[in-house]
Amino acid sequence: MSTQAGAASGAEPLRTDALIIGAGPVGLFQVFQLGLLEIGAQVVDALREPGGQCVALYADKPLYDIPALPSCSGQELAQRLLQQIRPFKPGLHLGQVVSELQRRADGRFAVATRSGLRFDAGAVVIAAGAGAFVPRMPKIEGLAGHEGAQVRHTLDDAEALAGQHVVVVGGGEIAIDWALALSDARPAQRPASVSLVHRRDALEADPARLQALRGRIAAGAIRFVVGQPTGCGEAAGRLVRLDIAAADGATLALPLDTLLVGLGLSPRLGPIADWGLALERRQLRVDTEAYATDSPGIFAVGDINTYPGKKKLIVCGFHEATLAAWGVARHLHPERAMPLQYTTTSPRLHALLGVAPPPAAG
Ligand SMILES: Cc1cc2nc3c(=O)[nH]c(=O)nc-3n(C[C@H](O)[C@H](O)[C@H](O)COP(=O)(O)OP(=O)(O)OC[C@H]3O[C@@H](n4cnc5c(N)ncnc54)[C@H](O)[C@@H]3O)c2cc1C
Repeated sequence: MSTQAGAASGAEPLRTDALIIGAGPVGLFQVFQLGLLEIGAQVVDALREPGGQCVALYADKPLYDIPALPSCSGQELAQRLLQQIRPFKPGLHLGQVVSELQRRADGRFAVATRSGLRFDAGAVVIAAGAGAFVPRMPKIEGLAGHEGAQVRHTLDDAEALAGQHVVVVGGGEIAIDWALALSDARPAQRPASVSLVHRRDALEADPARLQALRGRIAAGAIRFVVGQPTGCGEAAGRLVRLDIAAADGATLALPLDTLLVGLGLSPRLGPIADWGLALERRQLRVDTEAYATDSPGIFAVGDINTYPGKKKLIVCGFHEATLAAWGVARHLHPERAMPLQYTTTSPRLHALLGVAPPPAAG
């Protein structure tokens, strides 16, 4: 499986049988079902890790309703799906938001991501859940323009922020880990100040983390501020200040060189709503024969779709992906006979799965 994060733009569009938007559990299983029908796929996801909600929202929590897996964490389910689709070698393009989808004159689709990655796809399967997961931002005018520079959603190297005034916003494990890592740096590599800002006094982390944090706050290595960010100040095009409405009614101005935002992720339907597809309460309307949208060649599976009786469960998405694969096959190869084959007994499927040599010719 080739994994590309932030793949290069400008090159020729990548030609594929099917383009899958979303690497959640249903998008990943879609690769498998397409693969059994000898349809190659490229998968794009806004997140930097595959697994959709299972990994982004409940990686360590067990699921109990996946057939034949009495208990399995969100992360484990994603790993198992990735293992299952490996024989089909899908391209996995992570950290990419699909923003454009256009039908070309020849009936194929031109698909592009915000950062310029382009595809030429025979069919498109939208497995986009509730939309692209993007980091939540404090609602402050002027901050978004600094994203990727002074405003960040990851902490790769705490020591790179030596001598800076760093403000961490958030009350969960990620924000606490960042504050601890910054205050833990070697003395010469520490930030000038580390402030942790959360809207409530209560933080959401395990007792060990909270104890470590309390120790650093008591030692003066971390300043904990209860309040809401309300504004920011700039000088010469750089952020220099974050204004906080503190819980006691006071307004604080924290000096700022780098803002680490750890407020979690929220899904944005975004561009999908602009592609002219039939929507019902922000979900794509599909038939239940092939989970096709009202636009030939575009299918929708998993949490993004709606039809009478729809249930937003992974097992339902897996069924939808199975029938959508047959729909994609009929769309791409209307002339091809497609007998149903079992993975247990079909030499052809064994060959595709790499579990037996291909059948001898003739
Ligand atoms: C706390 C919690 C517990 C749950 N427990 C269960 C359970 O026990 N059993 C169960 O069956 N279900 C459970 N669910 C529901 C289950 O997680 C969803 O039904 C499932 O994740 C849907 O899978 P999906 O692949 O359709 O979408 P998602 O998992 O939402 O994945 C969609 C992916 O598409 C990406 N995407 C969207 N738009 C774009 C775009 N324009 N460009 C690029 N990428 C895009 C998103 O970033 C995302 O990664 C739970 C959900 C939650 C929140």
